[in-house]
Amino acid sequence: MIMRLPAPTACALQLVDDVVAERQGGRNAAYFTGIAGEWRSRVQAYLNAGGSPAVVPPWPAANVRKKSFLNLYLSPKEGAAQRLILDDLRDHDLTACPACGEAGRPNTLDHYLPKTEYPHFCVTPHNLFPMCDACQKEKGIKTGDHADSRFFLHPYFDVFIAEQVLQLTIQAPFTAPLFDLLPAPGLTPVQERLVGCHLRELAIVPRYTRFFREQFRRLLRLVSKMRASGQDVRASLELFKTNAEDLTPNSWEHIFYDAVLSNPDFLEFLENEELPALL
Ligand SMILES: [Zn+2]
Repeated sequence: MIMRLPAPTACALQLVDDVVAERQGGRNAAYFTGIAGEWRSRVQAYLNAGGSPAVVPPWPAANVRKKSFLNLYLSPKEGAAQRLILDDLRDHDLTACPACGEAGRPNTLDHYLPKTEYPHFCVTPHNLFPMCDACQKEKGIKTGDHADSRFFLHPYFDVFIAEQVLQLTIQAPFTAPLFDLLPAPGLTPVQERLVGCHLRELAIVPRYTRFFREQFRRLLRLVSKMRASGQDVRASLELFKTNAEDLTPNSWEHIFYDAVLSNPDFLEFLENEELPALL
């Protein structure tokens, strides 16, 4: 699953002003006062570019004082402006990782542009969103390379991910099927390339093949019961698909049932052939 998230309501520019104001009187006052204007304009550039590393460059001057920036994220004082925003970002109701769909509450915040390379965005709310540990491990400090300037979907700015962006195909033989997960048709070439990078760089296909195999076994068990009790298999599967779309059309269950229902040969197999006894 890939999920679009509503952008944070906190103002990223106001946060720069507040952080600089809170540093007045401290030992970093002169430094933060001196860079305040440029910091603000770099945050604005991030917002304008949707955080794209193809457009938003690192800031060498911030890297020189990396520790001063990272401390804003790593040890914010109680009541500090960025602390309130970080607490708010962590206070979410997500029950799955928005980057991959792993079930469970994602407990950590990911920096879309990594804080070690872009320390001046380490508390920018639009650069932070919940992510599961497995995705964080795969993502590391990657952002892109010379072939693909941007690897990862941005849950706040890539609005096209509100629609279905992944398509699964279930290939015969249906007694031991192969699964193929690819960007969905209908995306622009740029979107298609980005979705492909996101899948590859977060290792989503190897991580989710097991899930699809388990869904397949479950489907055979369910269809056996439906047929035994005289239920309409196709209508029941349509219902499952509709239910699975509730959260997002990119939920893994929705993508799975979409693959089942858009495959006439497989439907024919489910309705009329002898089903294999898989555990
Ligand atoms: Zn994840």
